[in-house]
Amino acid sequence: MKENARQVRAEGRIVGFVPTMGALHEGHLALVRRAKLECAPVIVSIFLNPKQFGPKEDLAKYPRPFELDVEKLNSVSADALFAPEPGDVYPPGFSTYIYVEGLSERLEGRTRPGHFRGVTTVVLKLLEIVQPHLAYFGRKDAQQVRLIQQMARDLNLDTEIVICPIVREADGLALSSRNAYLRAQERRAATVLYRALDAARREMTRGVRDPLRLQNLMRKVLESEPLANVDYSEVVDAHTFEPLARIRRNCYVLLAVRIGKTRLIDNLFVEAAGPDSEELLFHL
Ligand code: AMP
Repeated sequence: MKENARQVRAEGRIVGFVPTMGALHEGHLALVRRAKLECAPVIVSIFLNPKQFGPKEDLAKYPRPFELDVEKLNSVSADALFAPEPGDVYPPGFSTYIYVEGLSERLEGRTRPGHFRGVTTVVLKLLEIVQPHLAYFGRKDAQQVRLIQQMARDLNLDTEIVICPIVREADGLALSSRNAYLRAQERRAATVLYRALDAARREMTRGVRDPLRLQNLMRKVLESEPLANVDYSEVVDAHTFEPLARIRRNCYVLLAVRIGKTRLIDNLFVEAAGPDSEELLFHL
């Protein structure tokens, strides 16, 4: 992979990269389509990274439909697939890790200790192997992409990190490889994340700027769904991921909710229209 990527760079081509864990869906394919608009070649990786799963998490049962994934990548004309084995990525004696302080400890990091250390370590390795000009990530994993941007900046990486919008089902559920775990009744219940975020958005369009009011409203929506168990529901600054006293700057409304045994995350990105503007733009 390193040799191939080096060669295309030497030819003066713009290398785009889309890292994934496989079990591909329209969210992943949207990243590839976007990358195709800006880069050639577009390289996709499929690597189910064991280091970002906790001991009690779903690594063993995570779906691995490799042949189907290859077909999907062909359908969007991805140029190359990099699908290394865990033993190649982490040979015996592997002992170097990347850790972004502060940002890694909150929210997803608190519920999933070690998760972000595994993410940043593998993403840095993949970026070093492929050395893309641009790498594409989904806003679905908002904290993850914020961490990756921080890492890219702190370590002077040459890759530009591009953030792409969340792709949703018609009823609002954000696409996720983990949606495959949901039984029919759970699948219906899972729309509660979108309904809670949408309720928060409506309050903000009515002028509400108090995070506590939004959180209370979202709790109410989430608690109305018997199958839902809230892990967190927070309004945070989009840069620091720290709680906010009042919604002014760019922020995220973030949710992590268990539906049965399946843990789902989703978010609403709220963008301030201008530096001192009260007007907000919503990305749901
Ligand atoms: P994963 O395979 O879950 O590691 O995801 C690979 C990339 O796809 C990450 O950058 C995710 O944020 C992105 N992604 C996953 N689901 C979606 C979605 N519904 N919409 C947009 N991007 C997504």
